[in-house]
Amino acid sequence: MVDLKSQYLKIKKEIDSSILDVIDSTAFIKGPEVKKFQAELEEYLNVKHVIPCGNGTDALQIALMALGLKPGDEVITADFTFAATVEVIGLLNLKPVLVDVEKETFGIDLTALEKAITPKTKAIIPVHLFGQCSNMEEIMKIAKKHNLFVIEDTAQAIGADYIFKNGTTKKAGTIGNVGTTSFFPSKNLGCYGDGGALFTNDSELAKRLQAIVNHGMYERYHHEEVGVNSRLDSIQASILRKKLPHLDEYCTARHKAAMYYNNAFGKLAQIITPVTADYSTHVFHQYTLKTKGIDRDELRTFLAAKDIPAMIYYPIALHNQKAYLQEGVTDQNFPVTMELCNSVISLPMHTELEEEQLKYITEAVIEFCEK
Ligand SMILES: *Cc1c(COP(=O)(O)O)cnc(C)c1O
Repeated sequence: MVDLKSQYLKIKKEIDSSILDVIDSTAFIKGPEVKKFQAELEEYLNVKHVIPCGNGTDALQIALMALGLKPGDEVITADFTFAATVEVIGLLNLKPVLVDVEKETFGIDLTALEKAITPKTKAIIPVHLFGQCSNMEEIMKIAKKHNLFVIEDTAQAIGADYIFKNGTTKKAGTIGNVGTTSFFPSKNLGCYGDGGALFTNDSELAKRLQAIVNHGMYERYHHEEVGVNSRLDSIQASILRKKLPHLDEYCTARHKAAMYYNNAFGKLAQIITPVTADYSTHVFHQYTLKTKGIDRDELRTFLAAKDIPAMIYYPIALHNQKAYLQEGVTDQNFPVTMELCNSVISLPMHTELEEEQLKYITEAVIEFCEK
């Protein structure tokens, strides 16, 4: 699905020397590399504050902790996403309220979102799924009207641009109160282990986030609130510093592969190619097709027999996961999610896809559909 090795080999020299430099400096934790990466990412995202942390799941948890929510407060998020988003809500004894997604962009459904708001609702976590932004302008309007916090889960969309109706743009994750991301190796900006970050333009919130990632310390050994220990280590930061300058080029490479797929599948009735919303660019963390009138799982087996990996993101809706079952919540509330769980399939997507590989993959899909 992902070719991290070839990507590494292209920048091996720089990466290897930056790792060795960190070892040589022995500044493994909170070293200068972390500070430099923080500043470079702030500049790239055009955001006031980046707070690095241990991983993307921690980032979501820390964001929720910093908003001062009380047990039982409701947080709305999408039913169709990776479990981390809902997991941290549950972990903090908040109540996850899952809503359906839009059938073309897979972002949180605005009508379902508004309907789910109650007096207990405190925050919304839109997930910028597969590499494009949710409809942030509308989500921010709803949030403002109901006085809700917005945490953007940008784990899959770092580098994407949100396009406002007036034509101006902002980087994904910098529009809500706080944005979170993951540097998991296979993410669009991946390190060589675990890593994550939070972004915000709110300086007060940044102070609190910075304290929470570091045991709730505002001043050394003054613990003003319960925090966590969640750090990006210096070796990972040094790797990210070498990769960040390539992020736009990585996004372009993914986009190019996606356009190859789109062109190849354009005429197939059995395949619905991804739709890019007019309010976002798409950085194709995943290239996810919807199938129609064919057996999706048979397609996957067919591709596997030709050594083509394909994955189902996501096969089970969050509301059907044992850990997140809720009384009165049934499949009927999530018609789009249910359909997506049964029909989507993601094809190999990374920065190193060669035309020859794309040709082989698309021909196999076409062969299956025309069988
Ligand atoms: C990967 C991912 C996360 C979690 O990131 P980790 O670094 O693996 O903890 C959260 N949300 C979404 C949407 C993700 O894809």
